[in-house]
Amino acid sequence: MIAENLKRIKASLPDEVTLVAVSKTKPVEMLQEAYDAGQRIFGENRPQEMRDKQAQLPDDIAWHMIGHLQTNKVKYIIDFVDLIHAVDSLKLLEEIDKRAAKADRIVDCLIQVHIAQEQSKFGFDTAEVQALFASGKLAEFEHVKIRGLMGMATFTSDKDQVRMEFDKLKNSFDLILESKSVKTQVFNILSMGMSGDYSIAIAAGSNMVRIGSSIFGSRN
Ligand SMILES: *Cc1c(COP(=O)(O)O)cnc(C)c1O
Repeated sequence: MIAENLKRIKASLPDEVTLVAVSKTKPVEMLQEAYDAGQRIFGENRPQEMRDKQAQLPDDIAWHMIGHLQTNKVKYIIDFVDLIHAVDSLKLLEEIDKRAAKADRIVDCLIQVHIAQEQSKFGFDTAEVQALFASGKLAEFEHVKIRGLMGMATFTSDKDQVRMEFDKLKNSFDLILESKSVKTQVFNILSMGMSGDYSIAIAAGSNMVRIGSSIFGSRN
C-alpha cells in the first residue's frame, strides 16, 4: 500500500519538486516500507520521536523537522537533522545556531511564514518576514543556513482561499530574492503543500511538499 501510494504521488510531482514523506505518529515498520520503496526524506514533528526513529532506521535517511520546535528540544535532533522547516522566532534560531556550533555542523533551516487565517498558527507574518531578511540579523548566524520559506494554508475546502495564501507565500519568497539579501543558489526552497492541497501549492510555485496521510494513511 505504502509503495503504491508513493509511486502514485511521485508520478504526479514535477521533477523539481521534492517529496517529504511525513511519518509522524507512524511506526518504524511503515517508514522502513517507504524506505524500501526508495523514499529517503522523512518529516517528523516531535523531536524525541524523530530521534528514536532515526536510531532504528538506515543512516542515509534525511530527517526533516516540520513542526513547531521548542528551544529546549533542539538538542535532541541537532546532531542529525537535515532541514528544520518551521523556524518561527529569532530565539529559536539562536538556539539552533548555538547547538549546531557545538555539534560542529551547519544546519539548514526554513523560516515559517504565517499565511493561514487561523489565529493560533506559528510563524512570522509577511511584513515581519521581509523586515527580518532586511535587518541583516540572519547573516549573523554562522551555523545556520537559511534555505527558504515554509508555510501552511488554512484548512478549508475553499480552493481559492488556499491558492491565495500560497500565492502570498510565493510572493514573499520572490520579494526576498529580489531584495538581494540572500544568495539564489542557497535560498531556493519553498516548502508548501500537504496531502489535501499539494497540487495547488505546486501550481503556486512550491518545490517541496510535505505529504503524510496520502502515503501512510490517516492518523488518529
Ligand atoms: C502533519 C503535517 C503535514 C502532513 O499532513 P498530511 O495532511 O497528512 O499530508 C505537513 N506539514 C506539517 C507541518 C504537518 O504538521
